[in-house]
Amino acid sequence: MPLYHLGMDDTDSLKLGCTTYIGALMISDLAKDGSRFVDYPNLIRLNPNIPWKSRGNAAICLRFMSDRSPDDILGTAFELAEQYRDRKDPKNQPGIALLEGEVPSHIKEFGRRALYNVLTLDDAFHTAQKAGVKYRIIRGGLGLVGAIAAVGSTLEQDHTFELVIYRRKALWGRRRDVDYNSVLKFDKETTPLTFNNIDYEKNRLLVTPHGPDPILFGVRGEYPAVVMEALKKIKFRGAERWVIYRSNQGTAAHLVRTLLIRDLKPYQAAVLKGVITKAPRVLKGGHVIASIRDGTGEIDVAGYEPSGGFRYTVRDLMPGDRVKAFGGVRVLNDGRFTFNLERLEVLSLVSEAYRNPVCPKCGKSMKSEGRGKGYQCKRCGLKAKEPVLEEIDRRIKTGVYLPPPRAMRHLTKPFQRFGQEKASWEGKVGVFHGLF
Ligand SMILES: [Zn+2]
Repeated sequence: MPLYHLGMDDTDSLKLGCTTYIGALMISDLAKDGSRFVDYPNLIRLNPNIPWKSRGNAAICLRFMSDRSPDDILGTAFELAEQYRDRKDPKNQPGIALLEGEVPSHIKEFGRRALYNVLTLDDAFHTAQKAGVKYRIIRGGLGLVGAIAAVGSTLEQDHTFELVIYRRKALWGRRRDVDYNSVLKFDKETTPLTFNNIDYEKNRLLVTPHGPDPILFGVRGEYPAVVMEALKKIKFRGAERWVIYRSNQGTAAHLVRTLLIRDLKPYQAAVLKGVITKAPRVLKGGHVIASIRDGTGEIDVAGYEPSGGFRYTVRDLMPGDRVKAFGGVRVLNDGRFTFNLERLEVLSLVSEAYRNPVCPKCGKSMKSEGRGKGYQCKRCGLKAKEPVLEEIDRRIKTGVYLPPPRAMRHLTKPFQRFGQEKASWEGKVGVFHGLF
């Protein structure tokens, strides 16, 4: 039987549907006629900084041997996409790609670049043609970029698993019935082999999405067996089917390139290394902005309000601190770039700083008379030549800082995964889908 890779993207929208649900239906369809899966279905998160992405910028790829014809496979996937996509949303532009045989290295390269760059539909058409990828698109077909990227993202190194449980169609848009206490217990029993089940700062469930989509809940973890335990341990109602995906979620696969500030392009994901140049400022609404310089340029880096306590780390930085900033390039209305922080690594902290001298008579801080001109007390006129070098008590330490789980991107690597990164995949596929 020939080997196929079926990639699908952008079959969902902000309001309806979900690419992975169409994938789940496609899995059932392929399984019933004897197609043999050579991998868990892959759930691939792409560059999270792209503004025209759908909800989580998720694409999927099914890898299987089948006697069905390529046209039949593509046709079935196309019909499912037509049936479940959101016709009212112009952003909904599904793409479906089918590759026969092994994945060539330039498709893998396309998959890697889709994690941190902005790839165009032209890039996708060109790549499809070069590799003999067959495809179907709907509307503009921008989803073809993600569909081919998913085919190329073979997850040969670090990866995680997610058990996704879908709900019956009659319940889409309704409140989800998932028992909080059972998730709490599951989390305690399986940590650190599962992650981001609950945000303990807000006591909020993270396994349930908030939209009207087909997903009841999803559990992320290191191995299929541990996420599968959720089927027994978590109490829920209204389920229709379940699928275990192999994924790049929680791997930080998009933050692998250290770039120079001068070379940044819109919406890229990148790592910057530099020095804080001025005291961070807190904006209305609670966002915190710091600036870093690396010898080629300077850029504002932002910790946004939803990132909770993470912002305070950004706020407590001082000029001279050395940091690694992980995140993505945003473009402001006036065309300037800012860098949206997703992870901050403080490499070194300034431990002393020059301060204005204090007047020995009045006890007040003296004012500077201008650069190199010394200081003067505004009350009594006493002058001083030199500033005072003072040791500073820093509130932050060197190390890695992350936003709380509720504010993490799907690709963000949470703390409990540090040290659990996988170097390879052994290629064994267990049972990964079923009906309730
Ligand atoms: Zn004085």
